[in-house]
Amino acid sequence: MTVATSTPIFGTTTGFSTTLKCKECGEDYPLEAKHICEDVCFGPLEVKYDYDKLRLSVSRATIEAGPNSIWRYRPFLPVATNNPIDVGTGMTPLVKSHRLARRLGLKNLYIKNDAVNMPTLSFKDRVVSVALTRARELGFSTVSCASTGNLANSTAAIAAHASLDCCVFIPADLEAGKVLGTLIYNPTVMAVKGNYDQVNKLCCEVGNTYGWGFVNINLRPYYSEGSKTLGFEVAEQLGWQLPDHIVAPLASGSLYGKIYKGFQEFVKVGLVDDKAVRFSGAQAEGCSPIAQAFREGRDFVAPVKPNTIAKSIAIGNPADGIYALEIARKTGGNIESVTDPEIIEGMKLLAETEGIFTETAGGTTIAVLKKLVAAGKIDPDETTVAYITGNGLKTQEAVQGYIGEPLTIEAKLDSFERAMERARTLGRLEWQQVLV
Ligand SMILES: *Cc1c(COP(=O)(O)O)cnc(C)c1O
Ligand SMILES: [Zn+2]
Repeated sequence: MTVATSTPIFGTTTGFSTTLKCKECGEDYPLEAKHICEDVCFGPLEVKYDYDKLRLSVSRATIEAGPNSIWRYRPFLPVATNNPIDVGTGMTPLVKSHRLARRLGLKNLYIKNDAVNMPTLSFKDRVVSVALTRARELGFSTVSCASTGNLANSTAAIAAHASLDCCVFIPADLEAGKVLGTLIYNPTVMAVKGNYDQVNKLCCEVGNTYGWGFVNINLRPYYSEGSKTLGFEVAEQLGWQLPDHIVAPLASGSLYGKIYKGFQEFVKVGLVDDKAVRFSGAQAEGCSPIAQAFREGRDFVAPVKPNTIAKSIAIGNPADGIYALEIARKTGGNIESVTDPEIIEGMKLLAETEGIFTETAGGTTIAVLKKLVAAGKIDPDETTVAYITGNGLKTQEAVQGYIGEPLTIEAKLDSFERAMERARTLGRLEWQQVLV
């Protein structure tokens, strides 16, 4: 274990990040607003770092002394500034599960709860905090995104805080909570008549014409690095060690791949011991191109047309799908899908066992977790982390009609008592628990 004692050194231009490197052919590009290898192979670009320098500059102690946000990991993030946009994003709870674990038959289950991330209650606050910090450094005054809902919330909120002009694009059929949760920050909101993949295509065209910073298009290499913090935090919160198994939702597949990169980087610089971590992924049956490819043993992802209540992860043509497949296979994980009713059951199960109200994406993760345990694909003894990436208050319509109704009573004791009697016979409450 290397434990350096020096304080962090930040480069004057780009911190410890050095280039954008093509994931396919290895071509290097400068750290600009660029996401594909346009000179050679059109592969995706990813941020590279000088790990030798990084190793000498970070330690558990320097990280622990940092802010209580994702910016405690700033040397691992592709920004130069000493003054990033810090709206308290990150360091969300890692909850040791007791009741859900028991229900599923697991001994060491943890919930990483990004349903309470700041400022907009989803993991997207991580990627946007990084992308907009870099956007500001690169001189953008208008920022934008193609969103399945949460990203629009996050981009609008953090742009407002950072005083950047903002125009976001969403599919027109999103949940009301996600639309309202964007409009409140007063950006320009374009509700596009089409699915996410069509929104994304339009945004690529807009991006070519307007000099805007699209967080998940031309700024995508910086954006996606923000997801590594979901790996860093879990490692730190487990007492500077890696788990045995993780389960995370897959939309484009970016988040999943970056948790992997985060773990690898911590090993590379000596912050944690190396360990084989199994990576399992969750998709909704109605949009499961990566799970289908995994099941069929394919190394390519065939695009699908999404049709599911899990709208936040409904990407039919996932940009990082093939990399997710690779990680699942080489780590001995699984990529599974679950139906919409199973997703609702997953949301209810997490709420009634752990007191966490997640959105459809989290319901997908919990339902897949349950399915994998039932199939013997997660060992009861494994230290398993389920990533809950969004908040249920934003997708209330998903559970409307599936969770019962309040018992309406008169403001009188006998009315209450009659209702309790009824509740007992209906099984609406667990009577044993009411008594204790
Ligand atoms: C965007 C999103 C994801 C997954 O995103 P990737 O494109 O796979 O990185 C997961 N959960 C929620 C709630 C999201 O909004
Ligand atoms: Zn290339």
